[in-house]
Amino acid sequence: MKITFLGACRMVTGSQYLLEQDNVRLLVDCGMIQGEQFTEDKNYDDFAFDPTQVAAVVITHAHIDHCGRIPRLVREGFRGKIISSHATLDLAYLMLEDSAHVIQMDAEAAGYPPLYVQEDVQEAATLFHGVNYHEPMQVGPFTIELWDAGHILGSAFIRITAGGKRIVFSGDLGNPPVPLLKPTEALPATDYVVMESTYGSTTHEPARERKLLLRSAIYETVTMQGTLLIPAFALERTQELLFELNDLVEHKDIPPVPIFIDSPLAIKATRIYPKYNHWFNKETQYLIAKGDDVFKFNGLKFTSSSAESRDILRVKAPKVILAGSGMMQGGRVRYHAKNYLSDFRNQVLIVGYQVKGSLGRQLLDKAKHVVIDGDGVDVHAKVRAIGAYSAHADQPKLLAWLGSAPQLPQRMWLTHGEEDKANNLAKLLALSSSP
Ligand SMILES: [Zn+2]
Repeated sequence: MKITFLGACRMVTGSQYLLEQDNVRLLVDCGMIQGEQFTEDKNYDDFAFDPTQVAAVVITHAHIDHCGRIPRLVREGFRGKIISSHATLDLAYLMLEDSAHVIQMDAEAAGYPPLYVQEDVQEAATLFHGVNYHEPMQVGPFTIELWDAGHILGSAFIRITAGGKRIVFSGDLGNPPVPLLKPTEALPATDYVVMESTYGSTTHEPARERKLLLRSAIYETVTMQGTLLIPAFALERTQELLFELNDLVEHKDIPPVPIFIDSPLAIKATRIYPKYNHWFNKETQYLIAKGDDVFKFNGLKFTSSSAESRDILRVKAPKVILAGSGMMQGGRVRYHAKNYLSDFRNQVLIVGYQVKGSLGRQLLDKAKHVVIDGDGVDVHAKVRAIGAYSAHADQPKLLAWLGSAPQLPQRMWLTHGEEDKANNLAKLLALSSSP
């Protein structure tokens, strides 16, 4: 079995690996390279292989940095199977539709041809092949098995067996315990591991502090009569926040305050979740069985249309706005940021990874002045971060996952981390370097 690393090397996005055995080619992930822009120019480079000669692509999960270039692959002639868990394919469809929309608008504005269009997404969807966790599937000489990675709904780490060797691709690993999802499953027996290292040198605060921090951010916002802006990732973080807000509201742990989910993508994704109730952890399944709709509570408003979104500005503070995108590179959160960043009564709560160059990262790095779509904005709002909301395993959890295997793999590669973070983890593992 031959493996070629084609992305997510010394950086966090653009996950892509090519496996070859007996002249059959299998791709693991086909992610978008992201940075300051939603689509970095490198995404337009030719693939390092002939897409018509690839038998199948296996997707770890529905985040765009793992599946975002699939319609491009299809546009270039790929007609093999697109394999992943059923939930991942449902969510990936939404993500790719949204991605095609953003790409088209960016391309029109810049006057160059789009990376792909909606028709490519529709064509890709005809190739979707859903599987269940732990249900082996054969593609030529490759046996493919998925385990629950606990990162977002449907996420998987994947073991591929061919030519007498086994290799596991971690995809992104979860940060248990989290609301909704089951914990990351143990690493099964394998010869090789390719592991993510997004938070390779970090230890998140304990999970129990998560809800307390959220609660205190809301209390401060109400006391200050301000606005709490939460840049939210459409998948998982929004639904986790909804779950915790549902709990805080229903137990009267926070004062009544209007809460807006201002992201059409997050709203659509939230509607998919109940279809997979049986994939949730025991606590969530118990609440649902008792009749609690964990994504619905007093004060919550979904604002799908842009008119509804604009009306939020007229709602008197205090209020809470969850808006995409999660790293503030695009979406409605930028409009809100322009309106609310310059007032000291307001807060921004960062709840996930922020790639270098993104507006979210600038705020996290304590920028006092930012430029949003050509307009300069002074930052007086308080910016805080809750690392425990991260959907990624931290250093102790990455090490624990490796240690959960029946025996230590012969060889490991670290990917999907900025160089210093991957190197820090590599040193701990006494490896020479990341690939
Ligand atoms: Zn991810």
